[in-house]
Amino acid sequence: MNRSHVLVTGGAGFIGSHIVDLHLARGDTVHVLDDLSTGNLANLAAHQSDPRLSFDQADITVWPGLGRAVASADRIYNMAAVVGMFRVLQQPVEVTRVNTVGCERLLQAVAAAGHRPQVVLPSSSSVYGPARDGDLHERADIVFSPEAPLLNYALSKLSNEVQGRAYAQAYGIPVVIARLFNTIGLRQSGQYGFVVPRFVQQALGGESLTVFGDGQQTRSFCDVRDTVAMLDLLAATPAAYGQVVNVGHTQEVTILHLAELVRDRTGSASAMQLVPYEEAYGQAFEQIPQRRPNLDRLFSLTGYQPRWELPATIDDLSRHYQLTSAQKCGERAAA
Ligand code: UDP
Repeated sequence: MNRSHVLVTGGAGFIGSHIVDLHLARGDTVHVLDDLSTGNLANLAAHQSDPRLSFDQADITVWPGLGRAVASADRIYNMAAVVGMFRVLQQPVEVTRVNTVGCERLLQAVAAAGHRPQVVLPSSSSVYGPARDGDLHERADIVFSPEAPLLNYALSKLSNEVQGRAYAQAYGIPVVIARLFNTIGLRQSGQYGFVVPRFVQQALGGESLTVFGDGQQTRSFCDVRDTVAMLDLLAATPAAYGQVVNVGHTQEVTILHLAELVRDRTGSASAMQLVPYEEAYGQAFEQIPQRRPNLDRLFSLTGYQPRWELPATIDDLSRHYQLTSAQKCGERAAA
């Protein structure tokens, strides 16, 4: 099998570090670019002494080494982005700067590089705006209120889609655009708002589970191991180039049901607390009411069926947090 050289921007982050795991396990070499604003070197700790992994701490929007890094890559994943509701609301300028400028700079560098690496651009289910259509499919019309509070994030991701398609068309770059639906798993931080790590940690800590709004909003959660497997397959599928593809799992749950499931799986006696959006996010706004991907395009391109069900991911997270807190206690006792 041919070994590839892979560039992962944002490779010390949640999804990026799982992409690194996948490629190193396959025998590829990997170059990570990350400004460590939310990424963490601990996410790459398992590969610390692996000579096939190289790392640069730099900002994708200004890093002078980008052209060279791109020129030697067979495949590029552009995972550098500002994500997470708390962070998106608090850092609006960073959202536009990193998500839009970073993507443009990367694509410019690929166009100038003289060869054509496969490029994976992550978009987001947030581009569907307030749509409430049951299954969301890639050809659906997109309608936004100009005053939607997360318009900046959704438009930065929609703009990445337009940028990717433009460069694919103009330069023949094999770009795949993946609309990611609520990826979950180890190394996702609850600090920026993501609900699953927050609920699992709250349940294990005996704290109330903070259900925002009335908890009737739905999401379809996809284990990161499935997400990265699907991104990998899409990158290697020529029929996917220049296309937008939903990537996720169809297991849709209300947030209230998610809270019950987490309590169940962790055996926690935590209470549930309904928190108005205004209090949760510092401003009142209409939440995205419903999210379930239509995965027909993904299946017809790759044949991939997600393997991880929500309870299994919750169990993994719960085991991981319990183990790390036991280790910390052990270290404190030994000190
Ligand atoms: N959420 C919640 N409690 C929390 C964090 C989030 O009820 O402590 C809700 C949030 O309002 C949203 C859903 O869980 O309706 C998913 O939130 P997340 O930030 O994980 O993803 P996104 O909103 O981007 O789909």
